[in-house]
Amino acid sequence: MKGKIFEHIEKYGHEELVFCHDKEAGLKAIIAIYDTTLGPAGGGTRRWVYENEWDAIEDAMRLSRSMTYKYAAAGLNLGGGKAVIMVDDYDQKSESMYRSLGRFVNSLNGRFFTGEDVGTDARDLEYMAMETPHVLGIPDPRTGKTECSPKTAFGVSQGMKACAEEVFPDKSLRDKIVAIQGTGNVGQYLIDELLKEGAKLIVTDISVERLKSVLNKYKGIETVGAEEIYSVKCDIFAPCALGAILNDDTIPKLKCKIVAGSANNQLKEERHGDLLHKMGILYAPDYVINVGGAVDDADSFEKGGYNYERAIKKVARIYDNVRKVISIAKREGVPAYRAADVMVEERLERIRKIKRIGKSW
Ligand code: NAD
Repeated sequence: MKGKIFEHIEKYGHEELVFCHDKEAGLKAIIAIYDTTLGPAGGGTRRWVYENEWDAIEDAMRLSRSMTYKYAAAGLNLGGGKAVIMVDDYDQKSESMYRSLGRFVNSLNGRFFTGEDVGTDARDLEYMAMETPHVLGIPDPRTGKTECSPKTAFGVSQGMKACAEEVFPDKSLRDKIVAIQGTGNVGQYLIDELLKEGAKLIVTDISVERLKSVLNKYKGIETVGAEEIYSVKCDIFAPCALGAILNDDTIPKLKCKIVAGSANNQLKEERHGDLLHKMGILYAPDYVINVGGAVDDADSFEKGGYNYERAIKKVARIYDNVRKVISIAKREGVPAYRAADVMVEERLERIRKIKRIGKSW
């Protein structure tokens, strides 16, 4: 990407880009705010070694747009944003760097709130929270707020049920064969959820240690090699590792009826969503199905603070959201990945319109 910055902002449609600089703290960061129609813009803080400044700007802009779609699809009253910190090497981080960013976040007076992302962990969030209340996702055992992966996994299981209801006689996952790619934070909790539902599991991971720990913990789970997972005969394929794994090489190998997993940006390109559709495979759009952790975090915005029971009820609505996507896909005659965008764009448009009512001048 190169060229004039305002032309680029206009092309994407962002509201605001904030450049944050603090030489002594070693901070060079960009906060991108895409859309605040629904509420304050939320998105994690990514710390990354970017090749150049344009790559960092592009990443912040792309990710903040995705967050807008994610929150809107979940039915939350939140907009989308993202912060990226540019570093020269992956070890470059400090208390002062994150506290400095916390002060920049605070200067936005609640227009932007942030949380974890690649390169930013719970300790870094604590540093930011020393400077601003606009930080989400810090586990708090007193309120029942724990890490977000279990809620992400629960949300994925709800989305799977919504897909199963479309493809099989009912939504039950009992005796369904689910192939899980990646047994990390989300994958492991997803195994728990699916075993509770009576599903049969085939799993893989490139980490031998992780696979060993799964085999030690659970009985009756089959494991396969990392490449084999695409071609195993199963009902549901659950990508819970990396993005871009639905591509020209992998899609022709699939022998499933549904793809539903937690990984972000599963489609390498949009046309791969069309390909899945043509093959008769129902794809649960990633940003609709993997939002459980973010929904859980956002419950802290409620009056009186976070409440576990209420948060988990909201995560369970992922089932309804995926049903809605499927019904829009049928109404519009489009693949599910496109229907998810339609659902979000329709909601944003409706709320934009009602906001003119009662406006004071
Ligand atoms: P993680 O790093 O804990 O787990 C990923 C696992 O995938 C690791 O065990 C890794 O060894 C394995 N893996 C990597 N490449 C693989 C490959 N080619 N084949 C098989 N296994 C491979 O990450 P996570 O927190 O469990 O997140 C998983 C995915 O879900 C990521 O794409 C993440 O962005 C997305 N996601 C996570 C959350 C969350 O709450 N953690 C929320 C939304 C989306």
